[in-house]
Amino acid sequence: MTDRKTELAANLATVEERISAACAAAGRKREEVTLIVVTKTYPASDVRLLAELGVRHVAENRDQEAAPKAAECADLPLIWHFVGQLQTNKVRSVCSYADVVQSVDRKRLVDALSGAAVGAARELGVLIQVALDVDSGERGQRGGVGPDGVGALAEAVAAADGLRLDGLMTVAPLAGPYADQPRAAFGRLMEISSGLRVAHPAANMVSAGMSSDLEEAVAAGATHVRVGTAVLGVRPRLR
Ligand SMILES: *Cc1c(COP(=O)(O)O)cnc(C)c1O
Repeated sequence: MTDRKTELAANLATVEERISAACAAAGRKREEVTLIVVTKTYPASDVRLLAELGVRHVAENRDQEAAPKAAECADLPLIWHFVGQLQTNKVRSVCSYADVVQSVDRKRLVDALSGAAVGAARELGVLIQVALDVDSGERGQRGGVGPDGVGALAEAVAAADGLRLDGLMTVAPLAGPYADQPRAAFGRLMEISSGLRVAHPAANMVSAGMSSDLEEAVAAGATHVRVGTAVLGVRPRLR
């Protein structure tokens, strides 16, 4: 193995232990939680090594970076998640490689994604990103729609051609009542998810938790954790 592959294998093993321990502590089965490795700022060669090491889900947050990376990795059996704030003019590109867009937070974006998915003759998974730093239906500072806006947006996604409503995503907020309280924030997300599943039982994905708070997310009930730094290393400063 190359040095880099050995390093990634060791980091993956550590993250796997953390997820397993968190599942055991929460009385959950390990299979209930899916690891998504966030590969932003890292090269396609790392994505390839991760695939060789058994990773099946990867995530990116900028189309300019993700599009060429996904093209270089098109031969790999990977599921690509888009997790960044998304402008409608990038939607057609994102739709060409993403399997799931986790950062849907406004009607205009739903309409654009639907048009792109239909145009590409494919079905795109959608998560609604919930902002827990605002309590109305406004948008949060790091993207996302406030809890009061989730229902209407879910209806729009469910009614849109080419889109499949898969569930909810959040990023632990830096401001507001849940600042520095990831466990409470993720608990709130689970409540919103329960409400959503009354009308949309299949929308049962809950994407929450990153390198620093994946244990809290697993304890709350997350089905997907998004881990970057703990697998790939501390990111170089954003260019
Ligand atoms: C970068 C990123 C992550 C991963 O964060 P780490 O702290 O590096 O694990 C997760 N979710 C989103 C939306 C991100 O942008």
